[in-house]
Amino acid sequence: MEYISTRGNVEARGFIDTVLMGLADDGGLMVPVQIPVISPDMLEEWRKLSFQELFLEIFSHYTNDEIPYDDLKEMVYTSYGNFRAPEVTPLHKVNDSLYVLELFHGPTFAFKDVALQFMGELYSYIAKVRGEIIHILGATSGDTGAAAIQGVRGKEGIKICILHPHNKVSKVQELQMTTVDDSNVLNLSVEGNFDDCQKVIKELFADLDFKGKYHLRAINSINFVRILAQTVYYFYAYLQIGNSGSKKINISVPSGNFGNIFSGFLAQKMGLPINKLIIATNENNILERFVLTGEYKPGGFTSTYSPSMDIQVASNFERYLYYLLDEDAVKLSEYMAGLAADGKITVDGELFARVQADFAALGVKNQQCLDIIGKYQQEYSYLLDPHTACGIAAYEAFGGPDEVTVTFATAHPAKFDEAIALTGIKQEFPAPISALFEMPQHMTVVEHDKAAIVRELQAFYG
Ligand SMILES: *Cc1c(COP(=O)(O)O)cnc(C)c1O
Repeated sequence: MEYISTRGNVEARGFIDTVLMGLADDGGLMVPVQIPVISPDMLEEWRKLSFQELFLEIFSHYTNDEIPYDDLKEMVYTSYGNFRAPEVTPLHKVNDSLYVLELFHGPTFAFKDVALQFMGELYSYIAKVRGEIIHILGATSGDTGAAAIQGVRGKEGIKICILHPHNKVSKVQELQMTTVDDSNVLNLSVEGNFDDCQKVIKELFADLDFKGKYHLRAINSINFVRILAQTVYYFYAYLQIGNSGSKKINISVPSGNFGNIFSGFLAQKMGLPINKLIIATNENNILERFVLTGEYKPGGFTSTYSPSMDIQVASNFERYLYYLLDEDAVKLSEYMAGLAADGKITVDGELFARVQADFAALGVKNQQCLDIIGKYQQEYSYLLDPHTACGIAAYEAFGGPDEVTVTFATAHPAKFDEAIALTGIKQEFPAPISALFEMPQHMTVVEHDKAAIVRELQAFYG
């Protein structure tokens, strides 16, 4: 399989080079030249597969000319051996129309572990077989950084630097990142918000000399391997529900950077018959506004109870737009230039109709999020984290009578106790989270200033 850029100005690359490139050299995002389609018969066969087996089947379609099957298999089993649930992403039935797919059983209790545990193994593998120096650089609104650090800590040939917005991540998120004492890890705590952090990262990756000189590698969901790893649990959830008879299956996804939901869109394109793909956001509702009006326009930034979705610029949106424009890189580039010039993208007519057919979307208000947490605790004794609660609110808004909805639980509630406490619910922390509060922290606070950040990077990467 080969990969090209959404903007059309990168020569086709193989899988490993695509992973190493991260953001495409022309500023676009890498996508497969052709999306493989899984036949309904094949899907039926996949029903009996474990998560790991399913992962191998899906990845083989994208990597098999480059990564020997046995190597891939070893990486997959090592990655998911670190999860606390044997099913990796267990499905919890709440009632006849609602299932929750628990994506938080990895080392950092959020869904990012699913892709980043594998990515850590993959980078380590690439460092070995290619003799590549891997210097990971990324920005996080909390969960990506923690998961990426856990994915590569202590691994030979890899250094990782993560920027997070100072005092704007939850306490547990901060502790998960900063209590790691391996010498290959640097935490920069930036005086600004997540979009400020991401902007610096984007500029550094766009500077090809800098990127080349320091061997910079991405872990953000602009990296196609993360998108692909996340498609696995869409298939897994769908197939686990079994033959739901005449019931159609929707999937509701707490969304920020559009990475997770784009994986669902990709799964659909691969032939998974998802009925409605539901985008759940919080008050930072750029995606909801896009689906309702056809206008994609980054607006003001609001801090909410679901900080991992406090994002105004949804990086992966460009991938979706590319497919909406029928893979026309020239048109896509025009739209992206328009976004840079006018601060917005507008689609109308037939294109807009397709957006509305592709997604349903709901921006959930802060109070509603807390109400949902209280309601599900009371009615079902099931504690939701605030991100998952947004997903459940969207299920309540869009789930139809002959439908089943799988809502993705993107984090464990213990990660966001600040919000849970406001509902009056007292939760017990799992032991690995309680232990964090006793450990020393390692981080460097920096101004939101590119030059200051570059100095820290140069000192760390050497
Ligand atoms: C990252 C994250 C999200 C948003 O996922 P995207 O892929 O950025 O849309 C939602 N919930 C939690 C808990 C997260 O960590």
